Amino acid sequence: MKLGLLGDGQLGWMLAEAAQRLGIEVRLWSAAGTGTAVRLCPDHVVAPLDYAPAEAAGGPSAFDAFCSGLDVVTYELEHLSLGLVEALAKRVPVHPAPAVLALAQDRWLEKAALAAAGLEVAPHAPCADRKTLEEALRSVGYRALLKTRRDGYDGKGQWRLDSPEDFERLLGAEDAGHFRWPASGCVLERRLRFDRELSLVLTRDASGAFAAHPWTENRHEHGILYTSRAPVALPKAAAEETEARLKDWLDSHRYVGTLALECFEVDGRLVANEIAPRVHNSGHWTLDGARTSQFENHIRAVCGLGLGSAEARGLAAMVNVVGVPANPELLARIPGARLYDYAKAPRARRKLAHINLCADADAALTSALAALEALVPPPEPAQ
Ligand code: ATP
Ligand code: MG
Repeated sequence: MKLGLLGDGQLGWMLAEAAQRLGIEVRLWSAAGTGTAVRLCPDHVVAPLDYAPAEAAGGPSAFDAFCSGLDVVTYELEHLSLGLVEALAKRVPVHPAPAVLALAQDRWLEKAALAAAGLEVAPHAPCADRKTLEEALRSVGYRALLKTRRDGYDGKGQWRLDSPEDFERLLGAEDAGHFRWPASGCVLERRLRFDRELSLVLTRDASGAFAAHPWTENRHEHGILYTSRAPVALPKAAAEETEARLKDWLDSHRYVGTLALECFEVDGRLVANEIAPRVHNSGHWTLDGARTSQFENHIRAVCGLGLGSAEARGLAAMVNVVGVPANPELLARIPGARLYDYAKAPRARRKLAHINLCADADAALTSALAALEALVPPPEPAQ
């Protein structure tokens, strides 16, 4: 079996490894031919991820070279051309389906889909200029985040507002050329006072079977994930209801693959923030802490191999290495710490690696995590 994988970053690297362990050949679509996954995949085409197949009509193209002989296609990121994914779907089965990708690419459509699925979302409104932002502020309030509708990740494309002065400062920056409204507009979202951030990473296959990993608690610093920990205790009814509604929604889309739902816990309620139709950073702990990792289950789902158990093996945590490389000699002093190095050049706020920890008891995990946090600094604020 041959799998086509769009994207060559660390998620692609961990997906390719899981596929190869299952005896599946992988062909990569790499934007620059240099990403983390390329080292595992000599079979790759190099072409932009915003590639428009029509542009290459008439000659041999990266598109044709990529499609040839593939059984199925998947992707590691949602910031790629929907047109490319739709064109591929005419030639080869693509999972998850382009229709769900389209929702996840646009925060406004995404929030509407989550609300329609019966999940609570933060009060929000679309805006695309001064007038519509003023209207949005009236319904959402000034304690808010202005987020671009498209292309945001790791807190990029977000502006924090607290007061009418912040609003004036932001729009003043527009006059000075420092802030520019994106062509597709923004969503203004109320900034919630949440107790915790949580995520649910689960996989659905074509037969309708699910494998849901335990809920994960996540700590972000300056919009970037710093640590995750699982399994965690949750308000039971809220967790069950959220999971059931999400599964119904995935059934209605005949979703195939892994998906993550990010939530805020607010006074015992779970408020949905966003979905990622792919494997997710908050599921990296499953490489060591679950019977089957999110990567293996995603590959199993898209290749029709049947899902593995998503049960936890014990307690696990993950720390992201962001901006500054980790020192392997210091890490070696923390028993059981496993480094996954993405072989990327260090850059401010760039995810370079992650480290997994497993333990049998809560106290042991807490102390190992504290030791690790002392070695690996949290993400720095954006400049
Ligand atoms: P990701 O890397 O997860 O794709 P993103 O850039 O798409 O991130 P969000 O997940 O929406 O953006 O926001 C990043 C972080 O900012 C959240 O994990 C959370 O810490 C904070 N945040 C986002 N929305 C809200 C909100 N409505 N209220 C409070 N905090 C929020
Ligand atoms: Mg997020």
